[in-house]
Amino acid sequence: MNHERSHTLFSRALDLIPGGVNSPVRAFKSVGGEPFFAQRAEGAYIFDVDGNRYVDYVGSWGPMIAGHAHPEVLAAVEGTMRNGLSFGVPNALEVEMAEAITRIVPSCEMVRMVNSGTEATLSAIRVARGATGRSRIVKFEGCYHGHGDSFLVKAGSGVMTLGLPNSPGVPAALADLTLTIPYNDFDAAARLFEEAGHDIAGLIIEPIVGNANCILPREGYLQHLRELCTKHGAVLIFDEVMTGFRVALGGAQQRYGITPDLSTFGKIIGGGMPVGAYGGRRELMSQVAPAGPIYQAGTLSGNPVAMAAGLATLELIQAPRFHEALERRTHELCDGLEAAAREIGVAFHTTRAPGMFGLYFRKGPVETFEDAKASDAGKFGRFFHAMLERGVYLAPSAFEAGFMSSAHGDAEIAHTILAARSAFAEVAGG
Ligand code: PMP
Repeated sequence: MNHERSHTLFSRALDLIPGGVNSPVRAFKSVGGEPFFAQRAEGAYIFDVDGNRYVDYVGSWGPMIAGHAHPEVLAAVEGTMRNGLSFGVPNALEVEMAEAITRIVPSCEMVRMVNSGTEATLSAIRVARGATGRSRIVKFEGCYHGHGDSFLVKAGSGVMTLGLPNSPGVPAALADLTLTIPYNDFDAAARLFEEAGHDIAGLIIEPIVGNANCILPREGYLQHLRELCTKHGAVLIFDEVMTGFRVALGGAQQRYGITPDLSTFGKIIGGGMPVGAYGGRRELMSQVAPAGPIYQAGTLSGNPVAMAAGLATLELIQAPRFHEALERRTHELCDGLEAAAREIGVAFHTTRAPGMFGLYFRKGPVETFEDAKASDAGKFGRFFHAMLERGVYLAPSAFEAGFMSSAHGDAEIAHTILAARSAFAEVAGG
């Protein structure tokens, strides 16, 4: 495979953009080598500037659940943009979006649009703090909630890939207010609330962790957290930036039957445009400015073009049995990969949720962050590149979930499993 144009672009970028990228994981640091530069993408495929084609299991890190460049999403964007790109006054699409979100996710009685997942989570903890008058928040080791100061404490995603347990620039005084506990540990959560419950404004969690590879909640775990938060008067925040509208139409909260107080979204509701949202109980959300005193604002928030892309995407995923099909495809892919690894004799395990999966170079089960970290990252890096050479683009980190879309069909899955068979052989050969 030729990567000449990507290489030239990356050299130019390295000089001018930190690490050559506008978001760290894109730099391929954890798998080695250099990123490819996208030319275009369509359906399940992404094409680079050198003309190479890849089955794409990243999907822009989640938004492209209906496949890239879906004609209906593009048409909605094109139609909307002709009226102007941004108004700075309310527009009808914002109301439609609020209606769609609150209908699909009943725990959200009110919702506010922002421009990224990071803004959504920052705003959600501000509401939790403002509403409770408390200052501490609880997060989980390996969970990533964007790059807000309070969250860069034992975070997952790029923070983990790059080995930055905390970030310089985050004041210790602020980091001290973030309490971290291990995901899926019932006792740790109970102990923490016994000790500090009176001081805890809110608990934020990825109900399915997608930023430490892909870890599912143990039976009853999310319910346990719901009960602890209720008992101690803390706000339960589900960060559904990844899982929202993906693992079920109504997200992880629907899949597991839990009602959080606040939820954060992003990715899918923007259909590939920059969008985030936070919402929840009316009593909490009505404290946000200008209805209430908790301040949060945004020049481009509720952008009409972004709303149009998101609404078109939400329309597509409400097709009958959309999520069932996505779940079946995810199992087909993961079962095929596990069978291929078994054939070659490579220790390998997958975790799955509808449209989302984790790949581990170790034996299962994987239920904790420690389990996830025990995956052989060196082997993953070799596997990643062997797959890339065979036209399959996986998340360029052993600690990121993979994503599927409705455009991933039989042909793409068969191609992926065939590629994996020889990639596993390459990994096994050392
Ligand atoms: N929360 C979660 C669970 C995420 O996965 C991400 C990003 N991958 C974010 C928050 C931050 O979203 P953004 O990158 O849009 O700021």
